[in-house]
Amino acid sequence: MQEKFYLTTAIDYVNGAPHIGHAYEKILADVISRHKRQIVDNVYFLTGTDEHGIKIQKTAAAKHISPKEFCDENFSKFEQAWKELEIEYNQIIRTTDEQHKKIVKQIFKKLLENGDIYKHKYTGLYCSGCESFLNPKDLTQDGLCPDHLKKPDEITEENYFFRLSKYKYKLIDYIKTHPNFIVPAFRANEIIKQLEDIEDISVSRTKSSVQWAIDVPDDDEQTIYVWIDALSNYITAIGYDINEPSEKFKKLWPANVQIIGKDIIKFHSIYWTTILMSLGLPLPETIFSHGWITIDESKMSKSIGNVIAPKDVIDNFNLEHPDAFRYYMASAATLGKDGNYSDNEFKEKVNADLANNIGNLLNRTLNMLVKYFEGEIKSEFISDKNSSIAILAEDTKKQIIEKFNKYEIAEAANSIVDFADRVNKYVTENAPWQLAKEEKYTQCGQVIYNTLESMRYIALFIYPYCPNIAKDILKQLNQEEDFKYSKLQWGAIKEGKITEKEKIKPVFLRLDSEFALDKKRYIN
Ligand SMILES: [Zn+2]
Repeated sequence: MQEKFYLTTAIDYVNGAPHIGHAYEKILADVISRHKRQIVDNVYFLTGTDEHGIKIQKTAAAKHISPKEFCDENFSKFEQAWKELEIEYNQIIRTTDEQHKKIVKQIFKKLLENGDIYKHKYTGLYCSGCESFLNPKDLTQDGLCPDHLKKPDEITEENYFFRLSKYKYKLIDYIKTHPNFIVPAFRANEIIKQLEDIEDISVSRTKSSVQWAIDVPDDDEQTIYVWIDALSNYITAIGYDINEPSEKFKKLWPANVQIIGKDIIKFHSIYWTTILMSLGLPLPETIFSHGWITIDESKMSKSIGNVIAPKDVIDNFNLEHPDAFRYYMASAATLGKDGNYSDNEFKEKVNADLANNIGNLLNRTLNMLVKYFEGEIKSEFISDKNSSIAILAEDTKKQIIEKFNKYEIAEAANSIVDFADRVNKYVTENAPWQLAKEEKYTQCGQVIYNTLESMRYIALFIYPYCPNIAKDILKQLNQEEDFKYSKLQWGAIKEGKITEKEKIKPVFLRLDSEFALDKKRYIN
């Protein structure tokens, strides 16, 4: 058994409130983390917020509050959103934390001492919108910034640079020899291409341009730019220290997976990894980049006005817990590709999978158990692990583990739905109601048993996506609330009374059902 699993998300820039793009990544991370907790004892899930930089400095100034006050305000919105989505992280780091700032300065100093950071005066084309110097070859034909369609200013600055180019070939070699390092694999080729003409990067700003940042040690003129500040959070959070790293750090690093959006893969797979090389630290096992979530097939943007907060969806559909939204988001895109959110697709998907497929299966099987056997399992109903349905359940378990190992989160959800489909089909083909009519009670009871035992497997399979529904299924099966995969042994439901009529209720209501509008009658 694997000893530990350390996963991180990108840290969100707190210049605004969280939207479902931020939520998508946290849900993926939480689903992975909950799945790993079913198998691995020591799982550590880190998320956080990125709180420095010129944009925050400017927005706070415009609001006449201090940058820290502004960060505090927005930080609590992120914290609240993750609570509502039941994101169970172990730690949420803020880059304004004192401990983080202290270690970032240490790291900067160490790289300087290594000779990997040097001071360099240069003249370049600076776009204030991008907050960065642009490469002349990237400008439009008219010499404008391609993103802001604005003429960049020619400015001369002296900054600190990180000698990234020194590690270029070492990193190319590493990527080529570690096929699981960049997931999905098609991104690895893009990164190798970008590495071919990579240059050293500027890792500081003059104080006259950015004040809201960590100071460069022993230099009154410069502040540390985002690369060393934000990226280092993955190690400062768990107690990295140049002199004496904590036991926690030694236990957790390197990360097993760092989950990020496809827009920042370059910073993680090139900038971050070469900083780690310079520090002499091992690289993360996997950098997993996910795609983006579009809204009704268009890119989410403030100017279009289609930015949705996760709470909007939960409120709009009057959901009593976030399971349906979590499930939809985690299934929205195949590995590394973009996904889409629309109210209709959401409603159709969760109605089909959670209400019709899984929910109804449990409901009608429990009702048959009550109708024919007064809610009681008899010993002659219990099948062994060699029954065809037990073999199918075990096979599904293997598929799910394999898919999670490859970060195929939507694909793993499909395996659960496929299994539920097969079990539904099994019930239809074996028609327990017909068997009861023919007074073949043992056979009838066996079909019901196999179905309920399959539902127990489904509860554990779906737990990472839908923790509340999973708990509810186990409760209705009269089973203890334990989601460890070690519990997945066929035959755990024992003989005896499982349920009675009053205890059976839908685990998920169709979003368009009349009951969905009147949830209170289903709340215990
Ligand atoms: Zn620009």
